[in-house]
Amino acid sequence: MFIADLHCHSSASDGLLAPAEVAARAAANGVDMLALTDHDDLGGLAKAREVAERSGVRFINGVEISIEWGGLQVHIVGLDFDMGSEALNAGLASIRSGRISRAQRMSAELEKIGIGGCFEGAMRHSENPSLISRSHFARYLVEIGVSKDVRSVFESYLVPGKPGYVTHHWATLSEAVGWILGAGGIAVVAHPGRYKFSRLEMRNLLDEFAGCGGQAIEVISGSHSQENVNQFSRLAREYRFLASCGSDFHGPEESYIDLGGTPALPSGLTPVWTAFSS
Ligand code: AMP
Ligand code: MN
Ligand code: MN
Ligand code: MN
Repeated sequence: MFIADLHCHSSASDGLLAPAEVAARAAANGVDMLALTDHDDLGGLAKAREVAERSGVRFINGVEISIEWGGLQVHIVGLDFDMGSEALNAGLASIRSGRISRAQRMSAELEKIGIGGCFEGAMRHSENPSLISRSHFARYLVEIGVSKDVRSVFESYLVPGKPGYVTHHWATLSEAVGWILGAGGIAVVAHPGRYKFSRLEMRNLLDEFAGCGGQAIEVISGSHSQENVNQFSRLAREYRFLASCGSDFHGPEESYIDLGGTPALPSGLTPVWTAFSS
């Protein structure tokens, strides 16, 4: 069976393994085609590619861009783009530049409920300071015993309506899709089943995404239920989107699904890799 994993993270963003370890683990798990999709950063791609290709795994450049849409944070994956694109690199740098001040605001909010030292604590968990994320805060909150695991942190903290959440201005949908297309890549709506949108809002998102030149959605994701898979298979057919597939692996202890562990794409969909040029 052909195994593609087109969504995962390394320590270049909020994953637990180094880019080389992610590529080696994917190879050991039998992955045939791998894209590393760190949040807002391309720093892990060169090393992951080197190790993947040495192990006989086809490697695809990837990134997961943080945007704001409909008042919520949405993620747009870019695949198979030119890493040297100046507009893409400048756009990603602009997103990263807001993360440290956001983290300071998150830390101040947690301080108000008596949990101190979160900025410094989260920073100790982040190898890439400009990529400080809620995942690093979550790991610190587990470390100091506030929650038993990362999943529980996101039930009680760091999400809208809970302590430690702050609003933030990310990129827009059209900016993110524009940067990906401008770099010759394919834009993909990441894990659409995770967003708390009504059916109408989801259609509005997909309409606007298609209008910007977006071509694909993740039908299979480590965070999708069977119901999500069915729903987004239908929408992929209706919108004539290419279908993508990825584990969203962050690390051995934090992810239910390992690299390459997702089920195959449902038949009748057009896999996103049919449109890759590299
Ligand atoms: P940020 O980009 O700083 O907003 O952090 C978002 C990251 O937090 C995501 O990429 C996930 O890795 C993690 N995350 C968000 N929600 C959850 C959740 N419910 N359970 C586990 N991890 C989550
Ligand atoms: Mn993440
Ligand atoms: Mn995501
Ligand atoms: Mn992800």
